[in-house]
Amino acid sequence: MKEKEALPSGVIRTCEILCVGTELLLGDIVNTNAAFLSKRLAALGISVYHQAVVGDHADRLTSALADAFEGHGRPCADLVILSGGLGPTYDDMTKETVAKFFGRDMYTDEESLDRIRTYFERTGRVMTPNNAKQAQMPIGATVFQNDYGTAPALALSDGKRTAIMLPGPPAELEPIFDEQVLPYLRRYTDGVLISHNIHIMGLGESAVEAVLRDLMVNAKNPTVAPYCKAGEVRLRVTAKSESVDKADRMCAEMIERIRKTDVEKYIYGVDVDTPEAALFELMRTRGLTLATAESCTGGMLGERMTVMAGVSAVYLGGVVTYTNEQKINLLGVKRDTIDKHTEVSEQCAAEMAEGACRLLGADVAISTTGYAGPGGGTEENPVGTVYVSVATERGTRTERLSYSGRKSRDYIRTAAASRAFLLAVKAIME
Ligand code: ATP
Ligand code: MG
Repeated sequence: MKEKEALPSGVIRTCEILCVGTELLLGDIVNTNAAFLSKRLAALGISVYHQAVVGDHADRLTSALADAFEGHGRPCADLVILSGGLGPTYDDMTKETVAKFFGRDMYTDEESLDRIRTYFERTGRVMTPNNAKQAQMPIGATVFQNDYGTAPALALSDGKRTAIMLPGPPAELEPIFDEQVLPYLRRYTDGVLISHNIHIMGLGESAVEAVLRDLMVNAKNPTVAPYCKAGEVRLRVTAKSESVDKADRMCAEMIERIRKTDVEKYIYGVDVDTPEAALFELMRTRGLTLATAESCTGGMLGERMTVMAGVSAVYLGGVVTYTNEQKINLLGVKRDTIDKHTEVSEQCAAEMAEGACRLLGADVAISTTGYAGPGGGTEENPVGTVYVSVATERGTRTERLSYSGRKSRDYIRTAAASRAFLLAVKAIME
């Protein structure tokens, strides 16, 4: 028999995220669930003032629940979202512990039991008695069935306090949250928070602030906040409103205001995930094609383009020319150029990009050549020097990047690839 659900009685304003798992405390796994949940809650307009991690230990979990709901020096949580410990094994005790905390007995939820049975049949595995434990629910729970694994998720509320329990594996937690928990929570929120990110390149954080200080200080809703990420400045515009549409409109108006300032010519996109995504979008809308010529990035440019679905509309292909001979043979870099300036030079990078344009018949080509280290480099161009170049029909431009020798090989290659994409964005936009 399905027990009557006990639901929250009012608006949910504050939430604590409580991740359960000794593995998290030992550093064996990274707490991506907390990051995922925090993002989603911010979007719902629910404030997260505190996150916690506890091991698989009932007493410590009980005291963490008390801390969260009673505040103990921080705002009390209306909602605690727990992740992990819903599985079938002895160390999975989240549900039982939370039920006890709420003073609820358990019952067998027949629908969950059926679904778990079916799941085992479908995957051809044998169901053991402890799997049935996953169909045990605290009386009054709202059950969110799990189409991605066996442990159902659930919410338990006494009206004032609500706990939502989600399975630990992100591949289960994330879709269950988006498909079922989000609509559940929307019934108890009094507004939405929407953020949009403006991406700025070629202007530092303080320079951006100098232009926009008044606007940033005075803007209350939407708010405008700068932050640096992956070698660029971003402005996060966040609006709170009763509906997504309205909050979006408020953000759009603020973004327009920002576009009317001197910052405008440095904006290369809004809500673009990566520089390559910005480049892809820009080239797609302009009907341009791209080729790549890589030395020190050894295929990263091609890799980063081709992870994006649909990129064949833009990306023709590329070559990795790691040795000088290949730069000369495949791309037509002049031997004289390398003799005079070496392969890590503005001239070589430019000839590589121009060669790729010719070879692949592309409208635009980007190239990289540099010393990613840890060995190598010259006095003039030490380890961490990379030249990135972009050739278009309007000409070729090259940028010399210099990363400190202490940056890792991986960092230098990744950062240089990002800058190469951004240089192309800039060259096309101007
Ligand atoms: P299962 O049925 O798989 O046992 P569970 O709900 O009991 O699920 P846990 O046993 O706590 O969850 O964790 C299972 C796996 O989920 C972990 O080994 C880990 O890979 C992943 N996981 C758990 N918690 C987190 C977290 N906070 N962030 C990211 N991954 C997590
Ligand atoms: Mg488990």
